[in-house]
Amino acid sequence: MRALVFEGELKYRKDYPIPSPFNDEALIRVVAAGVCATDLEIIKGYMGFKGVLGHEFVGIVEECGDKGLIGRRVVGEINIPCGTCQFCGDGLGNHCPQRGVLGISNKDGAFAQYLTLPASNLHLLTDLITDEEAVFVEPTAAAFELLEQVDLSPSKSVCVLGDGRLGILVAQALSLSLTGCRLVAAGRHRDKLSILYNRGINARIGIEGLGREFDLVVDCTGSASGLSDALKVVKPRGTVVLKTTVAERHAFDLNQAVIDEVTVVGSRCGPFKPAIQALQDRAIDVRPLVSKVFPLEDGIEAIRYASKKGVLKVILRIGG
Ligand SMILES: [Zn+2]
Ligand SMILES: [Zn+2]
Repeated sequence: MRALVFEGELKYRKDYPIPSPFNDEALIRVVAAGVCATDLEIIKGYMGFKGVLGHEFVGIVEECGDKGLIGRRVVGEINIPCGTCQFCGDGLGNHCPQRGVLGISNKDGAFAQYLTLPASNLHLLTDLITDEEAVFVEPTAAAFELLEQVDLSPSKSVCVLGDGRLGILVAQALSLSLTGCRLVAAGRHRDKLSILYNRGINARIGIEGLGREFDLVVDCTGSASGLSDALKVVKPRGTVVLKTTVAERHAFDLNQAVIDEVTVVGSRCGPFKPAIQALQDRAIDVRPLVSKVFPLEDGIEAIRYASKKGVLKVILRIGG
């Protein structure tokens, strides 16, 4: 099959073997897939992964033990827990040390004509959501994760740092769920911030002029300096949520977190159901986030394009 494979360097191959599903897995024909910052980090060495990249996808089930799924359009959760270890037993499958992660760790991903995933990872879509929107379910779910992790009672003040793909999703997810909270999104690009501004969100360039005034700061900058910026605007005893992973190592002073007694929360994959619902209702609008769509054959060019400054979401169109 055709696939975009990272083997120390990125290659477009036409001879990659079609994956065969294990017992509980479905074979899925990929329709479209999104390029994520994580893919770009993997190419820089993050996770040491080799294989087919890509974890944000929409596809059609071709083979499955559950015959009712065949022919259905689906998105899929990306973690594949072992199901038998202590963490899995405690309901922490997303943290299973033996887990595979689609296109990220021990599991070929979605930049290919076919992928396999356990049927239990799949979520059905209705016709109310387009293929391009469906590609955003996984990152939107990640945005919803933090709503389950932190206290967002009214009167709290919240700041989102970063106006990239994830920052824009997180700010929208927060604005849906916050009632009576003050929300500020700070970024670097007027055009990207205007997507938020147009949805009634208070968006601004940079953090200059902001004091230590937020109960909660969400770092979606994808840069090593994001945490230190977050510590500049979080209140004493406030919370900083880290949403992005970076290959580059953090090397800065964490003393401020100690002095201010700041709680630092890591946040990663999240619940698919509210994400599908929000996209389907257009309560979160991702359409302005699509920068360009490439065919899989132009995948190497697509990845290069996705790494350019100012580009939001790049989508690979893989099958019909
Ligand atoms: Zn991603
Ligand atoms: Zn496990």
